[in-house]
Amino acid sequence: MKGLMMDFPLTTHAILEYGNRVFPHKEIVTKLPNGSWHRYHFSDLYIRAKQLASALVHSLGVQPGDRVATFAWNHYQHVELYYGIPGAGAICHTLNVRLSVEQIIFIVNHAEAKIIFIDATLVPLFEKVAPYTTGVKKYVLLNAPENFNTSLTDTILYEDLLKESRPDYQWYPSDENDACGLCYTSGTTGNPKGALYSHRSTYLHALALLMPNAANLSVRDRVLLIVPQFHVMAWGFPYVCILSGSDMILPSLHLQPDAIIQILEQEKITVANGVPTIWLGVYDAMKKNPPKEKLALREYVVGGSALPPSLIEAFEKDFGIKGVHAWGMTETSPIGTASRLQNIHDNLTDHEKLAVRAKQGIELPGVEIRAVMEDGSIAPRDGETVGEFEIRGAWIIKSYYKYHDNHLSFSEDGWFKTGDVGTLDAQGYMNISDRSKDLIKSGGEWISSVALEIALMAHPEIKEACVIAIPDEKWVERPLACVVFRNENIVSKEALNAFLGEHFASYQLPDQYIGMNEIPKTSVGKLNKKELRRRWAEGEL
Ligand code: AMP
Repeated sequence: MKGLMMDFPLTTHAILEYGNRVFPHKEIVTKLPNGSWHRYHFSDLYIRAKQLASALVHSLGVQPGDRVATFAWNHYQHVELYYGIPGAGAICHTLNVRLSVEQIIFIVNHAEAKIIFIDATLVPLFEKVAPYTTGVKKYVLLNAPENFNTSLTDTILYEDLLKESRPDYQWYPSDENDACGLCYTSGTTGNPKGALYSHRSTYLHALALLMPNAANLSVRDRVLLIVPQFHVMAWGFPYVCILSGSDMILPSLHLQPDAIIQILEQEKITVANGVPTIWLGVYDAMKKNPPKEKLALREYVVGGSALPPSLIEAFEKDFGIKGVHAWGMTETSPIGTASRLQNIHDNLTDHEKLAVRAKQGIELPGVEIRAVMEDGSIAPRDGETVGEFEIRGAWIIKSYYKYHDNHLSFSEDGWFKTGDVGTLDAQGYMNISDRSKDLIKSGGEWISSVALEIALMAHPEIKEACVIAIPDEKWVERPLACVVFRNENIVSKEALNAFLGEHFASYQLPDQYIGMNEIPKTSVGKLNKKELRRRWAEGEL
């Protein structure tokens, strides 16, 4: 027997209708690329997103299911695109501006986007792409100064496009299972692959993420969205903030530590998101030049790479700000787990509590995670038995977009294989030891590159560390550590291995250390191990 409840489609425009009805007065603040500030309210977003949807349909002839791309920083117009494009029945396809020209060409052609909304500051980059993406028929320019010149053909200014809207526009009546967003993986192995989100998956992910066990957002929060809107929909925060009624603050390209600190202070931010590299930079800058008054920031939500416990501890001790560790992937919308202490942890020592918070955390309701061992059996939740994590749930992909080798990424019973390896403990906390391809196999024993990196970053003289496997005749692979020292004080290999020796067996210690000015980063700010392996192989390290 079916339940007797209404069929209320969970769509992105239902999120915006809610925000406009319940929180019309809440603020969206942008520090625009030119450094000026723009402020308006959820009610303005509502009107303009509807105008955009109308102009897309009536002026640009967008059809249901069309991919409409964005090549833009975080700002209010980009939020309008998040709602206006699906509100026209089309798919908001965000392009990562930090990928290589070749990767961007591949993605634009693969997704067959015909319209691109592009920030003026990013036009010079796209001019290198455009000759190879001739399927794009229209460029809509965002934040373009007067007399802006470009070799891109068929351009229109965003504000001019909005003027072409019709006042009586009704949202396209999407089914909740229709697609609303498209993001590509950053392609660290092979070509980028597309994850096609549905209205329903987006809505449910946002609901779960705003809960106290995860991002813990409410009407009292002012949230800084540092995670780019071109990376997994800014982790869903543009939807979460509207549902929770939190003010949304957008930094566009002002992502240097000092610029972030200025926004944190001026806008009285209470919660912000970002990858660990961002927070390492912000911490260092705050340490050198402490804010005059205590920041309103109560928590920073971190994912994308492992959050070093040394950073959690230092931020909290020095500035009273808590780090919340979360895990996810482009394929998981992205958030799958988040780590917070429970009352069962009350009697633990501070050190033990830190170890819990440094884990990736427990499943959000709506997803299930298991660790699968090499023989295909499911690892017990004992915190010790290692397996590859597989995940399924309401916002997990069931297939990549237009992709033939899907079977390689899914188990026979339909779970998505994450490629991350680690343990689940008796309380359900996930602890990632590595990407399976980054694990180091030395003499038949596994060494976790992440565990070495985290331990090295706890050394007072080390700012950043990245460990890769290098080929070895005797042991097959051995760990090599690339480190960035905080000051001029270079620490010897012997001293670093003595420091690590407290926690690692001697066979796990790096054979070599290489001091660097900077660790290369991927397009989304992660340690770029592929690039380090290439440099090593080509004798450039
Ligand atoms: P992306 O699809 O670019 O977001 O990358 C997803 C990958 O980032 C995951 O499969 C993990 O390897 C890594 N990752 C994400 N969050 C974390 C985390 N909290 N700790 C360790 N690795 C993470």
